[in-house]
Amino acid sequence: MDLKLIKQLILEDKLVRFYQSKAWRSLRINVLERDNYECQECKRQGRVSPAQNVHHIKEVKKHPELALVEDNCEGICIKCHNKEHERLEKYIRKRNPNSSVKSAGEFLCPPGQNFSRFIGERRNGEG
Ligand SMILES: [Zn+2]
Ligand SMILES: [Zn+2]
Repeated sequence: MDLKLIKQLILEDKLVRFYQSKAWRSLRINVLERDNYECQECKRQGRVSPAQNVHHIKEVKKHPELALVEDNCEGICIKCHNKEHERLEKYIRKRNPNSSVKSAGEFLCPPGQNFSRFIGERRNGEG
């Protein structure tokens, strides 16, 4: 998967295809192994939690060139991932109220099981 294709998928709102790619899947495992399958956000707060997701520190939509850069990725637990995206979502909405982005999480990172449910609940709650 090359940068041109990633940019194309972003334009077409098909980033989910990126997350299904072999390139991402193997990078994801490298990142989790590098971080010892520990949530880096929890670690910064002195806690230890298992990382279930891999989060892009700089979002793929804005920085497609960093989509497959290991240093831009970190292992994160679902709880912190939800929080992180909640924050990003608010930020995006605030800056761009007419954005077609329904929720940041849909596009920024591969949705985990609980994560997509979380986003769904939020969306329903907000109408
Ligand atoms: Zn965490
Ligand atoms: Zn994320």
